[in-house]
Amino acid sequence: MNFIHKPLTRTTNSAALFDAARQVIPGGVNSTARAQWSGWMPYPLFVDNGNGSRLQDVDGNQYVDYLLGLGPMILGHRPSGVTRAVVDFIERRGTIFALPTAEEAVLAEKIIAAVPSVDQVRLCNTGTEAVLYATRLARAFTRRRKVIRFEGMYHGFSDGVYWSKHPALAKAGPDDRPNPVAQGPGMPEGVEENLIILPWNDADILADVIGREGDEIAAVLTEPVMCNTGCILPKPGFLETMRTLTQERGIVLIFDEVITGFRLGLGGAQERFGIRPDLTVFAKGLGGGFPVAALGGHADIMKLVADGTVSMAGTYTANGIAVAAANAALDELARPGTYDRLDRISDILREGLEAELRAAGLPVNVVGIGPLMQVWFAERPIENYRDAERHADQGLFRLWWEGMLERGVLFHPGAYENLFVSTAHTAEDIVLTLRAARDTAVALA
Ligand code: PLP
Repeated sequence: MNFIHKPLTRTTNSAALFDAARQVIPGGVNSTARAQWSGWMPYPLFVDNGNGSRLQDVDGNQYVDYLLGLGPMILGHRPSGVTRAVVDFIERRGTIFALPTAEEAVLAEKIIAAVPSVDQVRLCNTGTEAVLYATRLARAFTRRRKVIRFEGMYHGFSDGVYWSKHPALAKAGPDDRPNPVAQGPGMPEGVEENLIILPWNDADILADVIGREGDEIAAVLTEPVMCNTGCILPKPGFLETMRTLTQERGIVLIFDEVITGFRLGLGGAQERFGIRPDLTVFAKGLGGGFPVAALGGHADIMKLVADGTVSMAGTYTANGIAVAAANAALDELARPGTYDRLDRISDILREGLEAELRAAGLPVNVVGIGPLMQVWFAERPIENYRDAERHADQGLFRLWWEGMLERGVLFHPGAYENLFVSTAHTAEDIVLTLRAARDTAVALA
């Protein structure tokens, strides 16, 4: 990717903080997604505060925020119900006890009620952990070793799955049977022998591989909407075929709903598409901004956790803060009309962005579902990672990002990320965003 190293205007305090931070923090940031080479060129914005749908940087610039912490802030920044619940818990009860609290089962019941495929649920702290547990559990349950994962997806940074996220095509092998490509050096050799990498959205290839190798395959691991190569929707029938094929061969179907869970509805993407996976991973949307994740699934698989066959541990799991936050967040999200409103405002945004960009003559598709979307600068529909690499104009996306940021609209600079909408976004935010889109589009055309 070639980034334009144009300094952002009016961000001198961010520049100074970044210079200081990079002396003591490798790369100046604490996550790859905030690094220069993830697109934050010449440096990331440093944040002063977030409030509702707005974020303010350390130079006093205000932005309409569609970055939303990369997804967790589905209720916007500082949602009062969540904040109150957390402060109350800390002040009256404590933080960590290494013993259960009554609220954990209350939370489990809410998740089970919201997501019909889930009979039982265990908490952990991050999506990475929950995916690690899901694949381990699937292998233990089936006594098979291979996991199918799709090129271009991200399932966290553990050794077992941090492969073929965005591989260089020169290294990635044939289109119909990609090679596993490690995220980088340091991954233990041989791990990839347990992985089968496939292109997303190709039911024929999936059927062929399951037909030939099904007896060795423990799990198919997938995001129900591909959210880590921009936003790519499943082709009609793809998830249904996946469900049928996995069921026929006794393969555990794992939905990674880290992004889609509690975002596309209380029941996540699986509710929207009407598919019941065997295991589901939740994280970002669950905690209203606090670190909490969950692995839920069929009782017959979760039984292996119940009887101690598969250990799920962790000092910080189900700590009081995380559970209080998640209970409060789910209560807010469960209010009648929440998702209808979120969808309505998101649809207006998506359709408006596409209209403004097209009116300026730019080749564009704004793809999304509910409060999750991305702008593709491409002449043709993008169906998988290789389509994106070959046909999406990353340079134009970069200019679009810079133009929007200059006009007070914030989202991630990477074309393979998403725009997130929260329940705190207002009609005024959408109007401001579409006005910025019009001006940016005209400048780019
Ligand atoms: N799965 C998906 C689909 C994700 O998008 C992410 C993070 O972005 C993860 C898993 C990892 O979650 P976490 O960052 O909480 O470890």
